[in-house]
Amino acid sequence: MTTTTIPQADLTTNLLIDGEWVEAAETFDDLNPADGSLLARVAAGSAADVDRAVRAARAALDGAWGATPGVARGALLNKLADLVERDAAIIARLEALDIGKPVAQPGMLDIPNTVATFRHFAGWADKIQGATIPTAGYLGMAATHSYTVREPVGVIGAIIPWNTPLMIAAWKLGPALAAGNTLVVKPAEDAPLSILHLGTLIEEAGFPAGTVNIVPGLGPVAGQALVEHADVDKISFTGSPEIGRHIQKTAADTFKRVTLELGGKSPQIVLEDANVEAAINGIAMGLFFNQGEVCAAGTRILVHRSLYETVVEALGQAADAQVLGDPFDEATTLGALVSAKQQERVLGYIEKGKAEGARLVAGGTSPDQPGFFVRPTIFADVDNSSTIAREEIFGPVGAVIPFDTVEEAIQIANDTRYGLAATIWTQDVSLAHTVAAKVRAGAVWVNGWAAIDPALPWGGMKASGIGRELGWSGILANTEEKVVTIVL
Ligand code: NAP
Ligand code: MG
Repeated sequence: MTTTTIPQADLTTNLLIDGEWVEAAETFDDLNPADGSLLARVAAGSAADVDRAVRAARAALDGAWGATPGVARGALLNKLADLVERDAAIIARLEALDIGKPVAQPGMLDIPNTVATFRHFAGWADKIQGATIPTAGYLGMAATHSYTVREPVGVIGAIIPWNTPLMIAAWKLGPALAAGNTLVVKPAEDAPLSILHLGTLIEEAGFPAGTVNIVPGLGPVAGQALVEHADVDKISFTGSPEIGRHIQKTAADTFKRVTLELGGKSPQIVLEDANVEAAINGIAMGLFFNQGEVCAAGTRILVHRSLYETVVEALGQAADAQVLGDPFDEATTLGALVSAKQQERVLGYIEKGKAEGARLVAGGTSPDQPGFFVRPTIFADVDNSSTIAREEIFGPVGAVIPFDTVEEAIQIANDTRYGLAATIWTQDVSLAHTVAAKVRAGAVWVNGWAAIDPALPWGGMKASGIGRELGWSGILANTEEKVVTIVL
């Protein structure tokens, strides 16, 4: 079965298992969202392929990688960061080809964040420490000496979505490798290419064979096999709540550790005293960056009634000012959605918004051209109980909702099943802190959207997820604490 060579990156689309690029019995088609053409035939990993990858990961853990000290793991992660930086232009092209996003955007977020993540966790690799804990002694008979150590969880299955695949893979690889784990990575069907390229960089950096294995494939086949595998210790999943729920249930059979990073319906709260211009720019970015295919997209825009019409009008203009088109054209600010399925889903929500009585201010249709494009869309006068305010659309669609009091803003912000992120626009320091304390979200930003950093924990409350990635929390999530007690 032949897979494809991608000329842009000198990349083959096979499976990476135990340091070898191997073919799978079947392939799946990876399309270019900007024109619907076939981009690559990619190896579709089977349950048997996943099993071989897990065995390789276990062998590396028991062998060369397990024997690699923290300082050397850190050096390898720094080397990998350097290689990602070197190949930034290649990676940006792969992400633009595979996902349909403007080619300049990976250089603004995905690539610098990936580099920073590897460097941040390189720094932790030799600093993962336990504690010495005094106790009352052993049954009144003898004194004791007790200490804790943090050991790797083991073999980790990393399941990645398609929206910012390289960056999310780095969020899983960085802390897991720093802590001494090995991995089997299952990229998303719609966007496996940048992760396959990362595989070549992992080899070039000199990680021992089997430390990181990459098995592209279909979610219900390769992903499912990884979640079911008895010798996988943990699943680190980013994706939809529906698949996340299924993964947690399935993982329970083998008592796997699970972290879930799921969706969101994040509020942007514009308080009465906000710097309106800054808020409008930040809100537009939070709606249209990456075509709105962002888990933390600020899709519910709650605006104090005194600023409401100003903000609605300005967001309509910001939507109309987006340049929709070829991801490789430098003028483009909004690319294609990732797939025909995603385009249909987003257009379906837009029709629901119209049917449920929201006021369409901008967009609302697809342009008449090939590729999976949807015009940037703003709805005003949205009821927070309507479908477009409750469900994650994962496209360039914003819902603007007025409020009269700060208490009402907080109530609407929290009236959602999600709790990933929230942004508060205010110049009042006290209000910033009091509202931040009351919003149920894993991340609250004040006067800026998506101020993320690998040093900061990342994850959601409620249906937005379980557990945290990144920062020291990322190390905790990738280690098991062991206590050793010596009866003296
Ligand atoms: P998805 O459909 O849940 O897929 C995510 C991953 O799970 C893909 O690799 C998918 O494979 C795989 N998968 C599907 N079925 C599976 C199964 N039975 N067992 C194991 N794995 C399975 O999500 P998506 O459409 O790719 O991504 C969009 C969602 O991700 C949105 O809800 C978004 O909010 C969320 N997201 C969250 C964050 C965050 O940090 N919180 C970041 C980005 C995205 P296939 O590709 O083959 O289907
Ligand atoms: Mg693709």
